[in-house]
Amino acid sequence: DEPRRVILLGATGSIGESTLRILRAHPDKLQLVGVAASSSAAELAAIVREFGVPHAALTNDEAANSAVRDGLFPPECELHCGEAGLTSIATVPEADMVLVAVVGTAALQPTLAAIEAGRDIVLASKEILVLGGAFVMEAARRAGVRLLPADSEHNAIFQCLEGHPERHLDKLILTASGGRFRDRDPATLGEVTPEEATDHPNWSMGPKITVDSATMANKGLELIEARWLFDLPADRLEVVLHRQSIVHSFVQYVDGSILGQLCPPSMTFAIQHCLLHPERAPGVDETLDFSQALTLDFAPVPAGRYPCLDLAYEALRSGPVAMAVFNAANEVAVADFLARKIGFLEIPKVIRRVLEQCGDRFADSLGDLLGIDGEARRLAR
Ligand code: NDP
Ligand code: MG
Repeated sequence: DEPRRVILLGATGSIGESTLRILRAHPDKLQLVGVAASSSAAELAAIVREFGVPHAALTNDEAANSAVRDGLFPPECELHCGEAGLTSIATVPEADMVLVAVVGTAALQPTLAAIEAGRDIVLASKEILVLGGAFVMEAARRAGVRLLPADSEHNAIFQCLEGHPERHLDKLILTASGGRFRDRDPATLGEVTPEEATDHPNWSMGPKITVDSATMANKGLELIEARWLFDLPADRLEVVLHRQSIVHSFVQYVDGSILGQLCPPSMTFAIQHCLLHPERAPGVDETLDFSQALTLDFAPVPAGRYPCLDLAYEALRSGPVAMAVFNAANEVAVADFLARKIGFLEIPKVIRRVLEQCGDRFADSLGDLLGIDGEARRLAR
């Protein structure tokens, strides 16, 4: 068999790094034909040289211009520049799949373009589904391409659903670590710094998602992501606290049987599952070792402790506009928290106020939704 040809959007990030480890381990099965980043030009050029990648994209104009000026990339690599470069690299003809791991929603249009060009999608960027889930799912259905979930919870659910008819499914139960501040006195959360909030107890991830994990906005985004991927309403989507991040989620069937997927907290398991699906091959990280004692805990989410999660449930019940607004307001609030402009406890307050102001607008096209997304960001600022 020929290797699968992969385009990696967000190659210089945390998911990008995990993906490169998988590509190094399976050169016979996977070939890297394109990589994209925003402004990490030197890092991207190093990846291009290591893997002999024919296409690269830098969406930041300044970074792209100086990379051209300084001859950073080898001449045989085509450089796709600026925002349009992300769509152009996502649709190059010599690719089979596009792995989307750009933080936020910047890769929404490029992902839709890749789907229309007939590429299978491996999706890490959950924000894309939270903003435009109905349109992405419909586009994938129409184009007949596969949309493989790399987010660990959704990948776990995807694995547990395989081979089971839909009518047997009762509900999905997403596991949540509880984030960085799960054991901290909630009265002291006003003072936490970006350094503390970006240090996750179980996972090593990019800064935005690590803050989202501490507020549990991440689990909220994931509930909405699950709503689109698996087409279930809010009352069939649950969250359970699970400190060890070993069980990545559960599927409950109508007879009460519950299936889960287990592996250590490294994204390589889920990413590789998607890239090789339906094949499997040895993983790049050690798996669980039951010759050592292992204890798993599960507990309900304490009521009132995670207001961002409550707001996400509200948005989920309200509909696609509120979901998009939740995502936009959260993105702005987290960026401002990381820039030390607002405190940790102000993140849910920003989301709540923006939801109150524009969470009930009407949208029946992707254009409408993008307009509301922009307005929500302005209001949040
Ligand atoms: P990082 O912050 O580590 O990396 C983000 C990547 O996106 C970088 O390569 C960055 O390039 C690139 N990027 C940012 N903005 C743009 C843009 N406008 N155009 C093109 N590229 C851009 O993030 P993560 O890897 O942690 O997360 C990526 C996505 O995966 C997020 O949506 C997150 O929710 C999701 N995810 C991540 C998990 C994890 O374990 N990290 C787990 C599950 C989901 P540059 O270096 O130039 O800035
Ligand atoms: Mg996840």
